[in-house]
Formats: sequence, structure tokens, C-alpha cells
Amino acid sequence: MQNPVALYIAIGLLSLCVGSFLNVVIYRTPKMMEQEWRTDCQLFLHPEQPVAEASKITLSKPNSACPECHSPIRWHQNIPVISWLLLRGKCAACQNPISSRYPLIELLTAACSLTVVAVFGPSLQMLFGLILTWVLIALTFIDFDTQLLPDRYTLPLAALGLGINSFAVYTSPASAIWGYIIGFLCLWIVYYIFKIVTGKEGMGYGDFKLLAALGAWMGPLMLPLIVLLSSLVGAIIGIILLKVRKENQPFAFGPYIAIAGWIAFLWGGQIMKIYLGQ
Ligand SMILES: [Zn+2]
Repeated sequence: MQNPVALYIAIGLLSLCVGSFLNVVIYRTPKMMEQEWRTDCQLFLHPEQPVAEASKITLSKPNSACPECHSPIRWHQNIPVISWLLLRGKCAACQNPISSRYPLIELLTAACSLTVVAVFGPSLQMLFGLILTWVLIALTFIDFDTQLLPDRYTLPLAALGLGINSFAVYTSPASAIWGYIIGFLCLWIVYYIFKIVTGKEGMGYGDFKLLAALGAWMGPLMLPLIVLLSSLVGAIIGIILLKVRKENQPFAFGPYIAIAGWIAFLWGGQIMKIYLGQ
């Protein structure tokens, strides 16, 4: 790691490919969950009927195909960003448009990953910081699309945070444990107050688990900053969405926690210093 330019190029290319995989994760995870719920319901209601296993969706199966004409996507049509540009955003077989969201998520993943490299430099913090960034991108878009924060990603994220901080990679082991506990409890309390005052359910348990995971990575001292930043991010994006959609859809809180958590992860220390006037 003597040459920082080589590091940036390597991480840039790697993260474009990771972004391509995150597109699959974002697109397929809700479908996989729906399929599992159906199977669970059927097993519960009609245990005597056999469950169809043939068309089971996973992250690796079936192979990527055009959602319109189902023609398979070849490897040279699956190169991050470049293929989308070469195909001019259209399916090679049926000419239906391919959403610009796919290359944008790949570029976003690369931009966020390079920011992590710039902040931490070649280190263990950088390595795990990249993993945190990638999981947060997936969670942000899954929650944005479906108002779901899957346990299959939030719970391992929390476990990883506790595990690496047992070696004090970002914060002390005790701080990671308290970050986890307080992260879960503080939104749980907000949830109950909101429910008592308004009679509505304003957030889901996934939000608590995500904040608990961020607490496990960064310790409890970052939690007030994350909550503050997430309301700020939420207000900005909320106003934009209200103007764009012109309808009062329920929108998820998870993306704001994830974005705020990522900002706090990279610059929380500096923001706190400025805020405390040091
Ligand atoms: Zn097609």
C-alpha cells in the first residue's frame, strides 16, 4: 500500500462491482422475503400441502434477466456503468428502458467507498468502514422502496460492530455494548411516546435495530448526533419527496438513520468538536 493512487483505483473498481451486486441485493431481497413469508404462511395454514421449491429466488439464482422480456443479461452487458452507457439505457433485446438507478447506485457506491478510503487511509478502519458503507447503501434503498429493514442485514451488522470493537477498532468494547443497548432503547422510547401521543405507529422495529447496530459500531456518544442528523436529512429529503410525489405516502425513517449514521461514522468526531466549540 505504498501507492495511494493504486489504492484509489483498486477500491474504485472493486466498489463499482460491489455496487452492481448491491443492485441485485436491493432488487431481490424484498422478493426473497415475500417468498419466504408465503412459504411460512402456507406451512402454517396448510402443513399437509407440499411447498413448491422450483422457482426459489436467491441472490445468485436465477441469472440476471431483463424484467420486461426476460432475455438473459450476458456478462458484457453486466459491466458496471459502462454497459448501461453502451446500451444507452435500453435492453439489448427488447429496447425497453433500463432504469438509470442501476448505474447511479454503482456510482454512488464507488463515491462513498472512495470517501471512506480518503477519511481512513489504508487501515483496518477503512476495510470495515467499506463493509459498513455497502450494507448501509443496501439498507437505505431497500427501506426506501419497501419500508422494510431486513433483520438478515441489520442483525449481522450489529454483531460485526460488536465483534470488531471487541478489539477496539472504532471504540472500546464497553462503549460498543452500551451503544448497542442505548441505540435500541432510545428509538423504542420515541416510538412509544409517538404512539401514545398520536395513536399511530410512526416507525418500525427495524429502525431500532439499525440504530442499535450503529451504536455498536460507534458507541453511545455518537447516537445523539445520529438522531439529530437523521431528522435534518429526513426534513430535507421529506420536503423534496413531497414536492416530487405530490402525495402523502408514508415514507421510511430508516434511510435517514442510515445516511446520518454514515456521516457520523466518517466525520462525527469533527462535527462534535465544532459543535462543542473546541
Ligand atoms: Zn428486454
